[in-house]
Amino acid sequence: MISYARRIQTAVAAVALAALAFVLPGASAQAAPVSPAHGHPGGPCRNGYVGLTYDDGPTVATRQALLTALRSAHLRATFFEIGQNARANPELTRAALRAGMWVGNHTYTHPNLPQIGDPAAFEEIASTQFVLQRVTGRAPTLFRPPFGATSDVVRADVASLDLLEVLWTVDSRDWAGASTPDIIAAAATLQPGGIILMHDWVQNSVDAVPAIASDLASRGLCAGRIAFTPRDISGAGTIFHAVAVEP
Ligand code: ZN
Repeated sequence: MISYARRIQTAVAAVALAALAFVLPGASAQAAPVSPAHGHPGGPCRNGYVGLTYDDGPTVATRQALLTALRSAHLRATFFEIGQNARANPELTRAALRAGMWVGNHTYTHPNLPQIGDPAAFEEIASTQFVLQRVTGRAPTLFRPPFGATSDVVRADVASLDLLEVLWTVDSRDWAGASTPDIIAAAATLQPGGIILMHDWVQNSVDAVPAIASDLASRGLCAGRIAFTPRDISGAGTIFHAVAVEP
């Protein structure tokens, strides 16, 4: 005789499987690296890695074009997604992962976190972790505060969610209307390990991708993933602990 408890267990397992089936199609394996990520002497990445970052997506108007441009140029980038945008267009966040990109947390509604303070700031970050986990099948490990605005309170929230705060060493100023040549020129100032701020919704940044790829290749630099460093990195008017490394 099957006990009542056993039947409940079976029902719970079925629900869990259904939930997995919901999550897994979107959590398909990340594409293999699209560029030869070898830092050996004379190799294409002989001078190291830089971090290309695109904030505020997913954006319906530009996301696919940006991914196509990056794929064509054999570049990988980190997308700091706004939680409510990812919830509205989860397939665009998953498209970034499938294209070999990385996905980070950029809050749920893009507020100035030090201004709103806790608990609202914590909830902005935590709810976005929840959404991105559900959309991608994995919890993000990287966080970028909107406007680069951070504080001790925000940093404590970020740390409590096992996230790494990622600012930038180069601001493309694409958000302020920088032209495509200006964005290309900004990227040309990236040093090994450096990270550039760009945005998912800016067409000029989509248009800048091929020339950024050419410039990086000519300097022996490759697009890398972003990781923790114990070193103090100066940028965006603060100190942070993130660098670009081999994927
Ligand atoms: Zn932003």
